[in-house]
Amino acid sequence: EILHNPKVAGYISSGGTEANIQGIRAARNLMRGKIDDSRKPNIVIPKSAHFSFEKIGDILGVEIRRASLDEEYRVDLAEVESLIDSNTVALVGIAGTTELGQIDPIVELSELALEKGIELHVDAAFGGLVIPFMESPYPFDFQLEGVSSITIDPHKMGMATIPSGGILFKDEGYLRALEVETPYLTTRTQYTLTGTR
Ligand SMILES: *Cc1c(COP(=O)(O)O)cnc(C)c1O
Repeated sequence: EILHNPKVAGYISSGGTEANIQGIRAARNLMRGKIDDSRKPNIVIPKSAHFSFEKIGDILGVEIRRASLDEEYRVDLAEVESLIDSNTVALVGIAGTTELGQIDPIVELSELALEKGIELHVDAAFGGLVIPFMESPYPFDFQLEGVSSITIDPHKMGMATIPSGGILFKDEGYLRALEVETPYLTTRTQYTLTGTR
């Protein structure tokens, strides 16, 4: 509700790290067939991104391209645009950078993602439970058409127990892109990452 999407789909995860992995994994899977699948997919992230993206590149086989920051420590849009090519599956914007609390220009990133026909993952692990309550909230969530997924950690500003994280997708279709068949269980498929479910 606070992220402006009644159709949201997602789950509580083992942390923001898992949430970021799943956000990028869904984007990569949904972009199959739309890129040159014989080459490595890539994502464009800000230099200020959390080190979980280091693991994501390694685990998912996605090339991580890092765009530099402007003088206010937000990602430089011109550089993001110059790093996008025909094998880019997603952009990443940070809503509340871990070290400085800065918010990337998500409105513009959303427009860019729509224009290029790619996904936009917003890492709001840190800021997602603060920004909606500000006097004039900065738009960073599903009210922006280009936002595909959001990481939002109860254990950061939600005062919940470490390591609880959260991954939210624009709609259920993204969960379908994560599913594997689970023949011996009561449900036929599962979309989570750690453990059986
Ligand atoms: C803390 C943090 C993460 C990782 O979350 P964990 O729950 O520690 O795995 C990811 N992104 C941002 C912006 C963070 O601040």
